[in-house]
Amino acid sequence: MSEPLFSLKGLVKTYQNGEVNTPVLQGVDLKVEKGEFVALMGPSGSGKSTLMHILGFLDRLTSGSYLFSGRDVSQMTDDDLAHERSREVGFVFQSFNLLAKSTVIENVMLPMLYAKVPKKEREERAMNALRAVGIEHRANYVSNTISGGEKQRVAIARALVNSPSVIFADEPTGNLDTKSGEAVLAIFQDLHEKQGRTIVMVTHELEAAEFADRIVRIRDGVIESDEKNLNKRRGGYYK
Ligand code: ADP
Repeated sequence: MSEPLFSLKGLVKTYQNGEVNTPVLQGVDLKVEKGEFVALMGPSGSGKSTLMHILGFLDRLTSGSYLFSGRDVSQMTDDDLAHERSREVGFVFQSFNLLAKSTVIENVMLPMLYAKVPKKEREERAMNALRAVGIEHRANYVSNTISGGEKQRVAIARALVNSPSVIFADEPTGNLDTKSGEAVLAIFQDLHEKQGRTIVMVTHELEAAEFADRIVRIRDGVIESDEKNLNKRRGGYYK
């Protein structure tokens, strides 16, 4: 059998600001296989974003072990982490984080600029990603002229465009109305089911988590429960 995508054992994260230590993750054990759609739930301040940042190479663990596809992340240099981040992961945030004055397609092409992809291929891949989330008709719109739900689809297209091993979504429906939120969740479901994408979604809403296959709950920096989702919800038609 191949290695899990993520394998965490006794993972600890303590923030250190001067003399003040804030223990956040206090011994997290977790395995995620390639192709899973996992929701990470927990109350505000429980350490969800911290865990996602460590998994996504944005931050370092304090102690314990984190293997990514069998490779020991604690031994990686800052350059290695930056390299893994650009190649292996795509992020989707609650606040979309698009360049407001750039067009939709420019936003989606951006990650490929850093990956030094030729222009023609950048355009083709960006259009494919926009098509995958049903928003290709907005390709030439300036980003701040489209709706919130549309912006989040663009952010998903941008996260997809370098074909990462995993997509992390941090409260992706937090700024959306129910209908647009469900359309976004349906897109994640689609990417998972039809393209075998691995998705880790942080949310504090059970209604959102129920779109995933597995629900992991974190509380006070440890995993409180980790179960298959038996109440799977389906999103509406989004294209
Ligand atoms: P969640 O995503 O579950 O709301 P977070 O991972 O954002 O939780 O935060 C967990 C705890 O870590 C909170 O108490 C927060 O104040 C603290 N925290 C987050 N980032 C830092 C930081 N850079 N320095 C100190 N404490 C932090």
